Amino acid sequence: MTAADPITCPVCAGQTYEVLGPYRSTTVSLGNRDKVECSACGMVFAAPVPDEALWDAYNADYFQEAHGGATEAPQAILFRKAIAHVRYAFVKQAATQMGLELKAVLEVGAGHGEFMEDALRDTPGLSYTVIDTDKSALAALKAKGGQPVTDFGVVPATSQDLVVLSHVLEHTRDPVGFLRACSKTLRAGGIVYVDVPCLDYLYKDIDEPHLLFFDRPSLENALSNAGLSLQDIGYFGALHADIRTEIRRPRALRLARRLGSLATSWSLPQMPLAERAVIAGFAAQKRQEGPARWLRAIARK
Ligand SMILES: [Zn+2]
Repeated sequence: MTAADPITCPVCAGQTYEVLGPYRSTTVSLGNRDKVECSACGMVFAAPVPDEALWDAYNADYFQEAHGGATEAPQAILFRKAIAHVRYAFVKQAATQMGLELKAVLEVGAGHGEFMEDALRDTPGLSYTVIDTDKSALAALKAKGGQPVTDFGVVPATSQDLVVLSHVLEHTRDPVGFLRACSKTLRAGGIVYVDVPCLDYLYKDIDEPHLLFFDRPSLENALSNAGLSLQDIGYFGALHADIRTEIRRPRALRLARRLGSLATSWSLPQMPLAERAVIAGFAAQKRQEGPARWLRAIARK
């Protein structure tokens, strides 16, 4: 990367953009960047995009770099399990509606494996392949029933029914190329499930570790530019306006509101009470009309 290289949109390759402000990070090697919005497709991204060597090194110990030790707090573990139940229910319903039987699944960036555990529990005999850039995560995933592989090259072409990309695409340098690589592993008629934060820079104080900030049109664009056919896309979780209001509320009031919504708004009664308590207030399974915390999409090969 030199100063003369033009800024190119990673989704549509457009080269006109508006600078929204500095890319906010705490890691020195990610500094000196802007957050820009593509004038053609609306994609918001860190510019210039970090080069491959820097980004690979950064992600090689993602959990340490990006999450520190905080993810092992009991509340964080409960939240991950609860949100995985919601996401798995969404994917399962989509697959069932499409008459798609899930026998082989590939998950990229499987993290701690909560989604995988739900899938394996639900479908005995399911083949579940996992790729993670964080090598320290792979041994734990294997112990839980996953088959770890090091990269896409090892996964046979047209072998998978479902590729799971949960909170992964916003970390990629080249989302369209990445989706194409995922699609290659899918059999004809197989699906990709994408879950990403929606324009999270609008309510967070820091942009790192995300490089990409999707809204519905830019995610639709990325999927179609990768040759995938959109089946479903939607905003889920609390609306942006409500997230911003919630952030300003005193802690005691936030807790009271959460307990209030625990009684009224939950539709997965089989979820343990402790998980429901942690996730209550996020409206995690609620489909919204406008920008909300998450975007979920299903696209077919
Ligand atoms: Zn663009």
